[in-house]
Amino acid sequence: MHLRKTDGVVLHRTDFKESDLIITLYTADLGKVSGIAKGAKRSKRRFVNNLQPFSYIRIVYSEGRGGLIRLDEADMIQPFFRISEDISKVLYGSYFLEMVKEMTGEKESNLQLFELLVTFLSLLNDSPLREEYPRIFELRFLDLLGYRPRLTECSICNQILPPDNDAWFSYRHGGAVCKRCQVNARGAIAISGETLRAMERALGMDLAEAEEIRFTPLVLAEGKDIFPRFVQYQLGKGLKSLRVMEAVQGA
Ligand SMILES: [Zn+2]
Repeated sequence: MHLRKTDGVVLHRTDFKESDLIITLYTADLGKVSGIAKGAKRSKRRFVNNLQPFSYIRIVYSEGRGGLIRLDEADMIQPFFRISEDISKVLYGSYFLEMVKEMTGEKESNLQLFELLVTFLSLLNDSPLREEYPRIFELRFLDLLGYRPRLTECSICNQILPPDNDAWFSYRHGGAVCKRCQVNARGAIAISGETLRAMERALGMDLAEAEEIRFTPLVLAEGKDIFPRFVQYQLGKGLKSLRVMEAVQGA
């Protein structure tokens, strides 16, 4: 049995049989992968409590059957335990985990995506919650999956959009559309030039700047309205974490 090591974030866990757990991780080397942790519920020795969602761990594993890996050990790198102390952080963090779990392919490694996830869980854990975090995460995540929205030129006629002008955003065409084309983009919604510029900046900046970036109230309001819907449009279905977030925030 060939043992390997990689680092990963726990996305999801489910009970399996009497004493096992099935863990879904996003890892540095394998991308998204599911693994079985034999006896994890019975023996606390090998896994302690390291297999909770949000945990950033180093695993020792071997290839198992049916695409599953077999987890042999899990050492904690960073538990991100402060996320679970704040309900709003849990809601945002769960949204990040669900996006990664639902939208990435099995064993398709993407180191930048792994770094994005660890960076934003660190921000949630270490700093006060900012509405900018989910908005930047959505944009950067979509970009890494090949869904980068077109923002500086019309997604239909390719004409450069006049800078600072308001435009429309079309989910179906994957980005901004000009005034002339918006009549042909059914369902397109108005978006300000200010939001388009802020999106460009969020996509182009260094990830280390994510903690410093501030959006205006207009950008935050439009972003909250547009980006989660764009994510779900690309996924082709709704996300449970967003429904929970709406229910909690609307209460
Ligand atoms: Zn156009």
